[in-house]
Amino acid sequence: MTDDALSDDTREAPTVSCERCGREWTLDSDLDDLGPGGHAIEQFALDHERHTGHYPDDVTPWVVRCDRCPGGERFLSERPARRWARTHARHTRHSVRLDPPTGAAETVSVEETPDGS
Ligand SMILES: [Zn+2]
Ligand SMILES: [Zn+2]
Repeated sequence: MTDDALSDDTREAPTVSCERCGREWTLDSDLDDLGPGGHAIEQFALDHERHTGHYPDDVTPWVVRCDRCPGGERFLSERPARRWARTHARHTRHSVRLDPPTGAAETVSVEETPDGS
């Protein structure tokens, strides 16, 4: 009877690769306090985009653009993207275009909120 199977040592460090750069990175575990899953990768991806203008492999952002305001925002997950779109639509009464990594774009406007919450 042992507990060895649950040893922390077996945990893999997340890796990120970028075909355009022809490189691969191993993300350090000192980013651990951000929690398991995508946070370290998200942070890396945002940083990579800031330096190179593109995202690493397997990272496709949600793009939120207002019809009337210049620029736009990019998010690596759905929830903050939707929140930004709804907040902007509500505050400005502009229509905001929400472009997911896959699938059809949708428009968020103040008149029609998809669900009442
Ligand atoms: Zn790259
Ligand atoms: Zn706007």
